[in-house]
Amino acid sequence: MASQRPGFPVRLTPTASAVTRGRTSAVPAKPLVHHTPSMASDAVRARMVQRLAAQGIADARVLRAMGTVGRHLFVDSALVNQAYEDTSLPIGLGQTISKPNVVARMIELLLGAPALANKPTDRLGRVLEIGTGCGYQAAVLSHIATEVYSIERLRGLHERARTNLRSFRLATVHLLLGDGMVGYAKGAPYAGIIAAAGGEAVPEAWIAQLAVGGRIVAPTQSAVGKQALVVIDKTARGLERRILEAVHFVPLKSGIA
Ligand code: SAH
Repeated sequence: MASQRPGFPVRLTPTASAVTRGRTSAVPAKPLVHHTPSMASDAVRARMVQRLAAQGIADARVLRAMGTVGRHLFVDSALVNQAYEDTSLPIGLGQTISKPNVVARMIELLLGAPALANKPTDRLGRVLEIGTGCGYQAAVLSHIATEVYSIERLRGLHERARTNLRSFRLATVHLLLGDGMVGYAKGAPYAGIIAAAGGEAVPEAWIAQLAVGGRIVAPTQSAVGKQALVVIDKTARGLERRILEAVHFVPLKSGIA
């Protein structure tokens, strides 16, 4: 549970000289400013956001969301030191949380949906996320979409995400246990669908549940058998598909376990 974890490691820079200045007694110096764990993680997260911007993430909505959600609150206490590094991390049951750069890139792509073209400050409407995992990306998505439906097929992770997200009190995030290959028809149509696991092809159900003007961003096997990001836009004229850079996601599997 997030609240029971040790705080984010604080590397205090002693401010002893400032504190003891003017004192004659040998009272042990205490920092005047208490560096709380959250202040320390804020600073590390701000550096992560700077790095994302330097790597080419340009959408202010994405950078703001990535700067708001504490990634250290979603990873195992043993990995907290690495929470803001540009690396994927294990989240249990053989699954991983994607690198911050990949999360930001995919959400930036999602915000490029036709319905939001030339609306650089608007939120997306309802979004479906396949693969809740630890719940980190769902929390980030809650800052760029009006509503988030997030499906996970592994009960252990679904419950873990529920625990992780409880303290965030995100009324617009709906966590579902189910097989995301069939989407979630009750929440459709979606302005955006984003997958955190890669399959052979984009399931027909996702395309059916996508709104006109909406966009799917998903890792998918490309013709040469390698995984790549696929973007599918649904427009009044039909579907437009683009294959982008190579990625490495855990496999999209059917059924609940
Ligand atoms: N977005 C997550 C990353 C999770 S990793 C995060 O921020 O932590 C991908 C997840 O997709 C895994 O937890 C895996 O169990 C899940 N997954 C794979 N196939 C699925 C399916 N058909 N339906 C729902 N979840 C699925």
